[in-house]
Amino acid sequence: MARYTDAVCRLCRREGIKLFLKGPKCFSDKCPIEKRNFAPGQHGKDRKTKVVGYGLQLREKQKTKRIYFTQEGQFRNYFEKAAASQGVTGEVLLQQLERRLDNVVFRLGFGISRRQARQLVRHGHVSVNGRKVNIPSYQVNVGEEIAVRDNSKKLVILEPAKEFASHQTAPNWLEIDRDNFKGKVLALPKREDIQLPINEQLIVELYSK
Ligand code: SF4
Repeated sequence: MARYTDAVCRLCRREGIKLFLKGPKCFSDKCPIEKRNFAPGQHGKDRKTKVVGYGLQLREKQKTKRIYFTQEGQFRNYFEKAAASQGVTGEVLLQQLERRLDNVVFRLGFGISRRQARQLVRHGHVSVNGRKVNIPSYQVNVGEEIAVRDNSKKLVILEPAKEFASHQTAPNWLEIDRDNFKGKVLALPKREDIQLPINEQLIVELYSK
């Protein structure tokens, strides 16, 4: 599977907003957006054209993809499934992204960023209902219990992640037991639970052309 290996802060600078991809650094004055809020590259500083129409829709899709760190094909699949569902397409699209296991692990506070949470899942440190699941795109369901596996609870990254998460707002669709590195899905996330600066309607318009 393709993997983004470049500096992630470039993604924020490209979108012109903080995407919060690096945990505590994003809240410090070391965040590059604080000092260099223009597109990366030689001519980034000079490009100040107003983005409208198709460009706006494209940027919204790219931004959302980058927040959740998904590839184009996978993101498109989420859209196709959302469009075929009974619900509101944009909301179902976001719900699927939010239900990804790597995102849930991040929301539970086991990682300082979605990228770190994804690594925890990939490396087999996470279980769902007591069974190891190492697929970051796994869609969690109501009633499932997500936990750091017993042998992994001594990982050095967990304590800083717990400390970082204690300053973040906990989502109300998850029950969180930070001390024991576990949590439970109480309900599927609704649109109002996903507090991200995303205009999903623009993505729907882009893919519906
Ligand atoms: Fe984005 Fe965080 Fe890097 Fe700032 S520090 S540019 S918010 S990833």
